[in-house]
Amino acid sequence: MPIEPGHERPAPRPRRARPDTPPADPDLAARALEIHRRLCPVYGCPIPYFHSLDPLSELVSSLLSHRTRNADSGRAFKALRARYPDWRQVLDADTAEIEATIAGVTWPELKAPRIQAVLRAVAERRGALDLGFLRDMTVEAARAWLEAIPGIGPKTSAAVLSFSVLRMPALPVDSHHHRVAQRLGLVGPRIDVGPAHPVLRAQLPADWSAQDLYDNHEVLMLHGQQVCHHRSPACGACVLLDLCPTGQARCASP
Ligand code: SF4
Repeated sequence: MPIEPGHERPAPRPRRARPDTPPADPDLAARALEIHRRLCPVYGCPIPYFHSLDPLSELVSSLLSHRTRNADSGRAFKALRARYPDWRQVLDADTAEIEATIAGVTWPELKAPRIQAVLRAVAERRGALDLGFLRDMTVEAARAWLEAIPGIGPKTSAAVLSFSVLRMPALPVDSHHHRVAQRLGLVGPRIDVGPAHPVLRAQLPADWSAQDLYDNHEVLMLHGQQVCHHRSPACGACVLLDLCPTGQARCASP
């Protein structure tokens, strides 16, 4: 039965309890700020937003981008939009057809049904395929609403709020950002990308704007792509070397 907009079904229970945001260690918070201060001039803050999509489109884009090169997920997103100009058409389409349309991304056979399931969940809970209502919620409430949908984790919820036209102050953490933060000692070696979100957010000032948090994510991601490479980080060329336990250990080893 269709649901009238504004008459929302109760959110399903989150799959697991959201960890409370831990209080930031003052030393780590100071280090996080100094890292931001040094990287911003290197990568040119404020960094222009790379997307101006509505939040539902950003959600689909984010689901496509998981473990996929930006160029490939961007092509798949354009192909999806060209074939189905309305997200309702994606919801109603044959799943195999969607899979063929997004064939350039990693795991299209998983992403096609997941995108449809997520769109269905939004439609069922809101009575409309529209996430604009999130702008009236706090970041925490908006993230919890999104993460109650199976298939949406902390990175995707933060991306929807930060990268879309909502421009809300949420901190996304991708694999580059996470790797650099671990090497710099901002998060422990056993803390995975998902749980790293609240830890890294808590180290930054609570009153930072959406642009500040976006810049923080972007500079750490860009540093991971351009200097702190996965296999062989260029510690000798890194402006963070004196702050970085990993870089200092690498320099000290023969
Ligand atoms: S010093 Fe090395 S390990 Fe540390 S952030 Fe820089 S490149 Fe990465």
